Amino acid sequence: KGGRQFFVGGNFKMNGTISQIKEIVGHLNDAKCDSDVEVVISPPAIYLLLAREHLRKGIEVAAQNVFDKPNGAFTGEISVSQLKDSGITWTIVGHSERRTIIQEANHFVANKVKAALDGGLGVVLCCGETLEQRESNKTMDVVLAQLGAVAKEVKDWSKIVIAYEPVWAIGTGKVASNEQAQEVHHAIREWLGKDVSSEAANATRIIYGGSVSEKNCKDLAKQADIDGFLVGGASLKPAFVDIINARS
Ligand code: PEP
Repeated sequence: KGGRQFFVGGNFKMNGTISQIKEIVGHLNDAKCDSDVEVVISPPAIYLLLAREHLRKGIEVAAQNVFDKPNGAFTGEISVSQLKDSGITWTIVGHSERRTIIQEANHFVANKVKAALDGGLGVVLCCGETLEQRESNKTMDVVLAQLGAVAKEVKDWSKIVIAYEPVWAIGTGKVASNEQAQEVHHAIREWLGKDVSSEAANATRIIYGGSVSEKNCKDLAKQADIDGFLVGGASLKPAFVDIINARS
């Protein structure tokens, strides 16, 4: 697959306690994970340091969100440099729960991506359509508007992983079919080639998220343009390791 390293992220969302995070991290430390796979877990902000301190080398930690300003009077927010200072090397940006519930707009998401990259973080950039948008044939319009806002701010996509996450598949148990996911991933790759660069089209990991489980991951992983997964619910369970090893 163009030499792209398989990438599996675990998004814990607003779940977990100190003891549960320690348990999950301990399980990951002991697990036999395919060494060709890049694994990144994303606990709630309050547990980022705890996870980093307990996690073995070779597995990275991502914030679930970041702010676009360097410091100052922004109560409740966390900066890129504060994440870096804590050993956090990635951040998720633009998760659909933040876009819909917190009402983050495309340009705000784009500013965060730019700030994160400028500060040296890797970015898992989420995009995806609602069921209503899919049913009215607006999937690619929506996805490309989300990604296009970022392309206006960012030319170098080498530290961006794109997570295609159809909103109707997140946390619903209703996974996209292999064909539905592949179709959108392929279209995103074509768009990268046209609007960013042929290098970005070849090298950028495009991962799928939305009810990924140990059962459906193997077939999804075989699709030509699926380079990994962003896993929500299942990342809290031992089955996460099976998803990491989907291609082995
Ligand atoms: C997510 O939160 O990014 C996600 C894909 O969730 P789930 O796997 O639970 O559908």
